[in-house]
Amino acid sequence: MENTIEDQTAPEKTIFNAIGQGDLTEFKNILMQHKGSVDFFDENGMTALQHAAYKGCKEMVQMLLDRGADVNSGKHEYNYTALHFGALSGNSEVCKLLLEAGAKSTAANSVGRTASQMAAFVGNHHTVATINNFIPRSEISYYTVLQGQQSEPYLPSFLVDPLHKFVLGVNIHPVRLALNLQHASGLLDNAEKVSKVLEMLCKKEMTRGSETNEVMAFKYHYLSYIIREINNIRDKQKPVTDSNKEEKKYDIVEIFSKKLLKPGKDGYSLDLMDAFLKDCVREFPYRECTTFHQMVTSLTSKDPPPALSVINCTINGQRGFVDAIPYCSTCGEEKPAKKCSKCKSVQYCDRECQRLHWFVHKKACNRESSVPAPVNSKVNVDAAEITSELQNLVAG
Ligand SMILES: [Zn+2]
Ligand SMILES: [Zn+2]
Repeated sequence: MENTIEDQTAPEKTIFNAIGQGDLTEFKNILMQHKGSVDFFDENGMTALQHAAYKGCKEMVQMLLDRGADVNSGKHEYNYTALHFGALSGNSEVCKLLLEAGAKSTAANSVGRTASQMAAFVGNHHTVATINNFIPRSEISYYTVLQGQQSEPYLPSFLVDPLHKFVLGVNIHPVRLALNLQHASGLLDNAEKVSKVLEMLCKKEMTRGSETNEVMAFKYHYLSYIIREINNIRDKQKPVTDSNKEEKKYDIVEIFSKKLLKPGKDGYSLDLMDAFLKDCVREFPYRECTTFHQMVTSLTSKDPPPALSVINCTINGQRGFVDAIPYCSTCGEEKPAKKCSKCKSVQYCDRECQRLHWFVHKKACNRESSVPAPVNSKVNVDAAEITSELQNLVAG
């Protein structure tokens, strides 16, 4: 390798420049040429990992962690951790990487704020939810170990990663959960085991004494309830051969979402979804806890918010699905990438979400396409493609 001037400079000088400028190529070069510890400190006691987290650069954070960067290290004068900086950047993926690497979400800075509180303070709601919903992988893998007289564990080990990912999901819209389950290998095929493990996790959260986490307990109960419901639909389906197994999975999500997205008598409110979710709250086994009481109070108030909003507020500790941010009309995902090419008044994650919602939207679409659409330049519209696809689907 040629010996350039940069090669002779101390890596801690150049690496902070590379991070500051978001120069990934330069960053990689520095790391490749440096063999020792990557816990570099700048003159303010901030580590390279903290800088990368603050920059919100997932690749840099990942590379530093791969090289053994200490996730809880730092001599920042206000005791900010890498997770605090990640929370401030608003990049939820960065926060997830840090948490997976063992970042302590309870660590407070010098004014007593945790990373999640800092994220809330600057309005990074998705990041707040990501941090608050995080659980270590070991919580799930615990159930793959044989207990007592068991001949097989509660959970086969190949389900640990898909289930961990499913539990960490921030979007708790039932249709999104159904889609996530459909895409996760093995979870639906083992629905009974998975839902049992979730119920055990729920119980565990409620019996931790002073560490009891009612919110996480409710989330486990909620996820278990959704999986059981989808599994019930599956059981009612006629047996099918292996050749159309894929198609069958697709249909289950469609049946489930048609049930939930069906508009009520007023053509707008989602009465069936509401009833379904209220049943879920009612079935929560820990009726003495504060979380349960708050939900019931809210759901039985004079002008109750939709049950989905109540559950979302409970689990994600914030607003429900508000109008200020665009949402996928099917699954509630924030800032979806596409919109209906014809009327431009509804947005979707992708074709799958659009397809699932078409039975509701088709009536409104023709009506609304005559009204000028709101301008949203940030949305990447794949209009012609969606339309032709959709027409095919409708025709078929
Ligand atoms: Zn969607
Ligand atoms: Zn439309």
